[in-house]
Amino acid sequence: MEGGPPTPVDRKVITLKVLVDKAKNRVIFAEADYEFVDILLSFLTLPIGTVVRLLDSDSTSIGSLTTMYKSVSSLESRRLRTNYCQEMLLNPRNASETECSKLKINVYPLEPAKLYRCELRRVREKLVSCSIGWDRWFSTFKDRECPRCKYRMSLLAKVEDLEDDKAIEGGDGVFVKDGISRFMITDDLQVMEASTGACISLLQKLGINDGNEVEESHFVFDTQEVIRLLKFALLSKSALTEAILDVHCSSKKESVKFQPKRTPQPDKNASASNTNNMTLKLWVSKSEKKVLYAEAGVDVVDFLFSTLTYPLGSIIRLLGKKSGFGCVDNLYKSAEDLINGGYLKSEGCTKMLVCPKLAPFHSVDNQLLQIEEVSYPQYVFDSNQNLWVVAVAKTELSSPTTEESEERRFSAVVMDPKSPTGEVDSGKGYMKGPATYMILNDLSVAPLSPIKSVALVNQMNVPLSDVVERVVTIGHNEALNLLNASLISKTVLSDVFN
Ligand SMILES: [Zn+2]
Repeated sequence: MEGGPPTPVDRKVITLKVLVDKAKNRVIFAEADYEFVDILLSFLTLPIGTVVRLLDSDSTSIGSLTTMYKSVSSLESRRLRTNYCQEMLLNPRNASETECSKLKINVYPLEPAKLYRCELRRVREKLVSCSIGWDRWFSTFKDRECPRCKYRMSLLAKVEDLEDDKAIEGGDGVFVKDGISRFMITDDLQVMEASTGACISLLQKLGINDGNEVEESHFVFDTQEVIRLLKFALLSKSALTEAILDVHCSSKKESVKFQPKRTPQPDKNASASNTNNMTLKLWVSKSEKKVLYAEAGVDVVDFLFSTLTYPLGSIIRLLGKKSGFGCVDNLYKSAEDLINGGYLKSEGCTKMLVCPKLAPFHSVDNQLLQIEEVSYPQYVFDSNQNLWVVAVAKTELSSPTTEESEERRFSAVVMDPKSPTGEVDSGKGYMKGPATYMILNDLSVAPLSPIKSVALVNQMNVPLSDVVERVVTIGHNEALNLLNASLISKTVLSDVFN
């Protein structure tokens, strides 16, 4: 054995066996084990803002989301409720980030979330904190100014690691059981258990009758290749062919044209949210019947911006698996099939993929589209362990204590980073209001300026006499259509409201 400096063997790679149609130069299917399927399914947990961020590095834009993302990044911070709001939108947390950190290749590793407390001060030889009585506050952002004492919250709180217990349950797989099952992945990302039957029926469907027309090859995926696959999963109906063979299948002609849909209200909760309807003022060209731009308050802007924090799987779920967004509908349906086939590890994993939640504090007040948010537990201080533990778990574990001693434990709540006072006023938005914004067809958003709007109309060669105002209501249907169009279109307002 030779010694020597470490070579880039740590580079994490995963090999895929693929069957290629030689004549048509396309991937028929790939064969993989649970590790690769885990990576593929993990795409469903990624907030769409994270995906925009990842793909922007090679100048790939997604519908109108990339322009909207850039609008968020160029906003002056005083327009947002706190200094953390922008970061939360531009770099949203993934509610399943702990699970994703165990993937063989994780396209977007995040520093594990930590909790910070106020610095302690020395008063007459004693260390004191700013807490009132038994109540402590934690911040998810380091060095946040404490809203109570104005000191920096920089002290790392020692919190019990809940993940240790979870790690014990079953094997190496993250979402998929680490069995010996092999899986087949079609060009448009349908995942199924490998079988001769599935293979033959796929070949027949593609009109391949001669085994000589096909060729087996191997392809090595590293992180960059997985990101490339993610890109084509969103932009193409032939994700594997484009990612692996570098063949361009997605022509302009093929690209999906957004069609507004009327969707029935999915459940009672959603119809109850009807009271949350918002209004949007559209400026329309009468003769050309197209939307020039829109004027909106912070409620609409909050709604639009907060979609960046939605996990991909939750978007597909909201859109009833009919988003037309690359191959993602297929990927979502495959997750459901794998659940039904008993291939996934647990109920928890299942939910993370087909019903993913928002990370803590990422939801906004006016949630027209209902996506649940993960919340932090209430922590209490366990002086025996010198550790903050979850209140509920602790009462279950400890022998019955008197109510009095239970009350006298220090308890801590995690502050909402969106809230200037730190109070957990659940769901309040990112934007500081009241304010009016100008929204363009490609969802670029900027503070309203009457001078800019006149210049804009001029630029579009529309005579001012041709411009009329139209006020529209955004309810559940419009919100869904806006979300759907933002994924695949660059003329969102015209598509949804014309
Ligand atoms: Zn403090």
